[in-house]
Amino acid sequence: MSPAESRTMNAIRFDFRSDTVTQPSPGMRKAMGEAEVGDDVFGDDPTVKRLEQRMATMLGKDAALFVPSGTQSNLLALMSHCGRGDEYIAGQQAHLYHHEAGGAAVLGSIQPQPIAHQPDGTLALADIEAAIKPDDSHYARTRVIALENTFGGRALPMAYMTSVAEIARRHGLGLHLDGARAFNACTALGVGIAEFTAAFDTVSICLSKGLGAPVGSVLVGRQDLIDAARRTRKMLGGGMRQSGILAAAGLYALDHNIARLGDDHRRAKRLAEGLSAHPAIRLAMPDTNIIFVDMDPEVGQRFMAFLKARGVGITGTYGQQRWVTHLDVDDATVEGALEQVAAFFAA
Ligand SMILES: *Cc1c(COP(=O)(O)O)cnc(C)c1O
Repeated sequence: MSPAESRTMNAIRFDFRSDTVTQPSPGMRKAMGEAEVGDDVFGDDPTVKRLEQRMATMLGKDAALFVPSGTQSNLLALMSHCGRGDEYIAGQQAHLYHHEAGGAAVLGSIQPQPIAHQPDGTLALADIEAAIKPDDSHYARTRVIALENTFGGRALPMAYMTSVAEIARRHGLGLHLDGARAFNACTALGVGIAEFTAAFDTVSICLSKGLGAPVGSVLVGRQDLIDAARRTRKMLGGGMRQSGILAAAGLYALDHNIARLGDDHRRAKRLAEGLSAHPAIRLAMPDTNIIFVDMDPEVGQRFMAFLKARGVGITGTYGQQRWVTHLDVDDATVEGALEQVAAFFAA
């Protein structure tokens, strides 16, 4: 079934719900079909090893670990940095704190110290400093600061990450990056992935978002932390066998789908321009491939129902909706969706 046929089956013709909805392309499926595989828990899968080495080299880190999801990758990182009763600092809206079902607390006995975001998505440096606990038996031990970039589709500046890294170093803390969409951030900022991730001890990158692979994330970082993560991955049930079939999709994605991320960003800008032509719609121009739209909730409710009935897939609540461009959104998809939006406001 082609991607178009599959979307027709789901009655979504214009699918902006997420960059996770992409269908593996024929070329990617061919690479998966031809992958050389072995039992990766025995360390025998050459394709998984190639993916892990490739990612470690790209980021200029010691080692990497192929894992089933970004959620598991972040959890493994926190469990490598922290022991039972230790603490991590993260944003109040950070995916690993807010959207991962409290896994670090449930499975790692790790306490979160969330911090409110500034309007630009960053954490205030003074707030981070103030949240670091002194070495005193009253307090949990602060072990790691976790940043996220892109955050809500925004590419946060390099200077911000460098300043947080300086705080982490000064306090002897680890530094983790949830870089689910790190390549989108690099594309928007015009920096290389090694420079972008240089300050971090661990970095989690999703292959299954804008890069278009069906499954998988990679945790990259310092040897001792990745070794610990490999043990924990097995404990959590994330040890996979002939997973080279999946890693082959990841390698294909690295070869073919990084350079084209700028197309997703360009289409998101075009979509944002088209949407913002309607006075009821409020939005900030996107840095990358994600647009957040604010509107009156009553209008939003009718708007979302109208779009759904006409095959335009978006997510969100009535007052705020999210539109995401990706590999399977072309110029015609953007224009087609904008026609439906125009039809709503003309009615
Ligand atoms: C999607 C996402 C994750 C989790 O990835 P899954 O593979 O869905 O578990 C983590 N962090 C961020 C910022 C994400 O967008």
